[in-house]
Amino acid sequence: MKIKKLDPQVVTKIAAGEVVTGVHSVVKELVENSLDAGAKKIVVELVGGGKSQIVVSDDGEGMEKEDLLLCYQPHTTSKISNFEDIYKLETFGFRGEALHSICSVSKVTIRSRPVYLPVGHEIEVVAGHLVYERPVSMDHGTVIIVKDLFFNVPARRKFLKSSAVEARMATEVFERLALSKPQVHFVLTRDQQVVYNLPSADFLTRVKQIFTDIPISQILQIDSSEGSMKLEGVIGLPSIVRTSRSTIVFVNERFVVSQLLINAIYSAYSDYLEHGQHPFAVLKLWLPSKEFDVNVHPQKLEVKFTNEEKVFTFIRDSIKNQLKKTIAKVLHVEKV
Ligand code: ADP
Ligand code: MG
Repeated sequence: MKIKKLDPQVVTKIAAGEVVTGVHSVVKELVENSLDAGAKKIVVELVGGGKSQIVVSDDGEGMEKEDLLLCYQPHTTSKISNFEDIYKLETFGFRGEALHSICSVSKVTIRSRPVYLPVGHEIEVVAGHLVYERPVSMDHGTVIIVKDLFFNVPARRKFLKSSAVEARMATEVFERLALSKPQVHFVLTRDQQVVYNLPSADFLTRVKQIFTDIPISQILQIDSSEGSMKLEGVIGLPSIVRTSRSTIVFVNERFVVSQLLINAIYSAYSDYLEHGQHPFAVLKLWLPSKEFDVNVHPQKLEVKFTNEEKVFTFIRDSIKNQLKKTIAKVLHVEKV
């Protein structure tokens, strides 16, 4: 016989590799959990590019001891209870895989305290095994400390990039999360140095907090709607053309990768940009959750729309009209 059943530990390590690909995916999963917990302030600390240590602290709803003892086990979630729920998701998470994956490939301490309890509880999990649990005195919220990512999977540890590159990728993920929820106070430190301290703000202010190099006179605000779709965000005038891809798109606050959306944006700029020039755009598309599906990939970046043409036309025309209006105004002023 050539076929044998895989050892559950091997299955876990393979599955964890789908969710955790590097420091950036740990940051993404932990911050999304904090956002799902209704945090108003989230602090991310990276040590050694996050390869030595990643800490995410929040002031969200926290977990009771019983939940804490479940949260790192496979397929445990408080966010859905049946399959249909994923078509009306209000949360980032739903698979109940992230903490389990992270805990099975690193050394994790989790402490958590709901606001209505006087003390918190702490657990340590190393390579998926509970080492200890104990009550702990702490502020309400949750603190997750992830040490030595992939320490028990040397073949994967080898594929982590340099500390500088891991930190840069994690910073990009952090920026997108901060853009998706500008009302939340976000802090990022790297080896104890503050990289970002972004107090709660409106969306335009958050864009300015992050893209400090973009002159405010060169950006336009987009605010349009059609039926149940709504588009909000900022775009750059063609004068701030960039040399590499600079478009960030969110669908219902979730950062997504979608060729359809990219094409719609580029198509709106087609009269103004030459080949190899890229527009600047940070856009938020809102639509009823039954009109799109993000359930395509464990990293949940790809998105499929029920009516692609409707979405494409709406995005392209919203941007195109705004560009046309502004450029016509500028030309008129120049003539006068
Ligand atoms: P998912 O987010 O898909 O539900 P996770 O493995 O990321 O799965 O988390 C498992 C569960 O642990 C969550 O459903 C939530 O109940 C709880 N949890 C995780 N992180 C936090 C946090 N920062 N604050 C409160 N609860 C949390
Ligand atoms: Mg999660």
